[in-house]
Amino acid sequence: MLYADYNATTPLDPEVRAAMNEALDGSFGNPSSMHSAGQAARRLVDRARAQVAALIGAAADEIVFTSGGTEADNLAVLGTAEAAAGKQIVASAVEHKAVLDPCAYLQKQGRAVTFLPVDCDGRADLAALEAVVKPDVALVSLMLANNDTGTLQRVAEAARIANACGALMHTDAVQAAGKVPIDVKTLGVSLLSFSSHKIHGPKGVGALFVRYGARLASVFHGGRQERLLRPGTENVPGIVGFGKACDLARTRLLADARRVAQLRDHFEQQILASIVGTRINGGKDRLPNTSNLAFAGLEGEAITINLDMMGMAVSTGAACSSADKTPSHVLLAMGQSAVEARSSVRFSFGRDTSDEDITRAIALVVQAVNLLRGVRP
Ligand code: PLP
Repeated sequence: MLYADYNATTPLDPEVRAAMNEALDGSFGNPSSMHSAGQAARRLVDRARAQVAALIGAAADEIVFTSGGTEADNLAVLGTAEAAAGKQIVASAVEHKAVLDPCAYLQKQGRAVTFLPVDCDGRADLAALEAVVKPDVALVSLMLANNDTGTLQRVAEAARIANACGALMHTDAVQAAGKVPIDVKTLGVSLLSFSSHKIHGPKGVGALFVRYGARLASVFHGGRQERLLRPGTENVPGIVGFGKACDLARTRLLADARRVAQLRDHFEQQILASIVGTRINGGKDRLPNTSNLAFAGLEGEAITINLDMMGMAVSTGAACSSADKTPSHVLLAMGQSAVEARSSVRFSFGRDTSDEDITRAIALVVQAVNLLRGVRP
């Protein structure tokens, strides 16, 4: 299998697996227990908290472990809304559903919610943000990088606008983490979500960075863990794996990003040169690993199915919504028609992608498109 769907999930790194196995074998204690078995598990969680914090330039105490990116996003949106009764929420129209759906839920409850428009590259309109952010805004949520297109947003600029009015700035960094350097202080954000399985860690674990002093109410109740914000006994092996994955991501980030960007750029150049009617979605400022391409006159889904039969895994967009037939809300928000949006395929490469994989990927995509267009070899 030629795997080119790293934005959906990534394989577990062998070093992460080894760290998790050690935790599974050696530390079954409950981190909240006072006895030594509990305290051994507590030390593992504390070490992982420091590793996770180091990836984003945060203090260890500012990390709240969650079950993943979706829960971190929900906690950011719903927790802020809960702490700031009656205040408005602002989010970009291209956010992941893990942000958009809690916003829509709040709107149904009668909360004022504004969805920011984006340009044809998917970049949020900061003039519109400036116009809408007033002291009655509790939260601005703008993702660091988009999962479908890889488009990078101007989060630091958005944070300056939000912070000037006393609104909390949240960024969903689930796709950006491990691919571009992140520093929460430089970004000026109060809340940042990320997820372990996108950076070669286990599934079902993630974190929300909550800056000291940020006003966030709990939306879960029943325990004192994670500063009361995420009660429940911690997923110790998962957290250990996430910590190790963050450690590896931090040390490998620049080298990995440079290598993957070269491979991705070569892939794009070759596809654009070999297949007529091909276009890149998402502009110039994108994640180094993501290539969202539109193939005029074709259905992205048909290309995806054909490539799967040929042994290559790609996707038409977010894995969690790829079962529904509606075109990507991200491409629609960028002004594309439903037909244009349906013609796109997302290729996302990663740590294990080799030069040979890219050569084979180019050949397979050309073959799949020619087959669908009825072009003879
Ligand atoms: N946010 C973004 C931008 C994502 O791409 C994803 C997953 O694809 C999520 C949130 C949800 O993360 P998780 O799968 O850890 O719940």
